[in-house]
Amino acid sequence: MGERTAFSFRVGTRLPHGHGRTGVISTPHGEIRTPAFIVVGTKATVKSLLPETVAAVGAQAVLANAYHLYLQPGSDLVDAHGGLGAFMNWPGPTFTDSGGFQVMSQGVGFKKVLAMDTAGLAASDVIARAGERRATVDEDGVTFKSFLNGDRHRFTPEISMRVQHELGADIMFAFDELTTLLDERAYQEDSVERTHRWAARCLRAHAELTAACAHRPYQALFGVVQGAQYEDLRRRACRGLASLEVEGHRFDGYGLGGALEKENLGTIVGWCAEELPEDKPRHLLGISEPDDVFAAVEAGADTFDCVNPSRVARNGAIYTADGRYNLLTAANRRALAPLEDGCDCYTCTHYTRSYVHHLFKAREMLAATLATIHNERFTVRLVDAIRDAIEAGTFAAFRAEFLGRFYARRTPAVRAAGG
Ligand SMILES: [Zn+2]
Repeated sequence: MGERTAFSFRVGTRLPHGHGRTGVISTPHGEIRTPAFIVVGTKATVKSLLPETVAAVGAQAVLANAYHLYLQPGSDLVDAHGGLGAFMNWPGPTFTDSGGFQVMSQGVGFKKVLAMDTAGLAASDVIARAGERRATVDEDGVTFKSFLNGDRHRFTPEISMRVQHELGADIMFAFDELTTLLDERAYQEDSVERTHRWAARCLRAHAELTAACAHRPYQALFGVVQGAQYEDLRRRACRGLASLEVEGHRFDGYGLGGALEKENLGTIVGWCAEELPEDKPRHLLGISEPDDVFAAVEAGADTFDCVNPSRVARNGAIYTADGRYNLLTAANRRALAPLEDGCDCYTCTHYTRSYVHHLFKAREMLAATLATIHNERFTVRLVDAIRDAIEAGTFAAFRAEFLGRFYARRTPAVRAAGG
């Protein structure tokens, strides 16, 4: 493929134990130094932030969602702009999630809990009954109703690949089926097998689309590992995806998908890191809590994404080195300190807690912007500091210090709830 293969991954410093490492992912739109937190811009916008601000918080790449952009405004329209980056005026690297997670959250997870902690939940809390589902899975793909207007749509591996090629992100994910933690083992086995067959179809469609669009920058494709909490299923899924080759194409990296339980997140990522090729990047879908971030990086995750820092910011929840707090409480009405002492973000260097508290109370739009800037900066800076600590050989000491302080005020029960 010659010059078009402007995608590569170079491993830097390795942790002495576990599979954690630093590295550099090179894409046609720039480099990503890993471990890296990938900021989420589901609908081709990081909610309430200008792209210049996304860059200012230190984000190296943005992840959008193929399912949302397919429904609105349509991937052909994004293509007409020259792809996702041009469409949203983000010059750096971009990812698109395949849509599998969103399709599933319309299906078995519809209006149910996509929980990391299933303690105390019954199966009926997590798995929607068939009649309530807005999506149904068959061997060929998924039929679902649009969240916008209820129209019926169909996603197959081939359609997901076509949509993601039109969206033009630097890194795409194979279309997978996501199960919940409480699906039965037999269903999880079927799902892993089906996801593997879909992965092969994705690679074939990717090979054809890449050949047909030889004038465009190369788009990398990551296979997605399912298998829930079962070690044998996760390892089997990894080995299967790692050995897949279709028309000279192999996966350029791997996504670790599915519902993961908080207490064994590191263990599951570690199983996958043992099975997957050492020289390919590994992306963990959907985590950002500091204890999860440390566990994932130590076990071998190179990049990860999460909507949480910006989602909770819009509700006034603020991350600091001393834990998360609620800005909307009366105590912050007259607080003249920044959101976090010592923070280098735009919000903390220009505004007081009292001002941002006022914006929330007055329902001003700038509240969301200023709170989001801080929380995204907090998360990006944490992962940057983890990367520096791996390179300096101080990862274990940094983790102990950071988590000790972040969770100092919390009881174990609160931590387990992820609150
Ligand atoms: Zn700040």
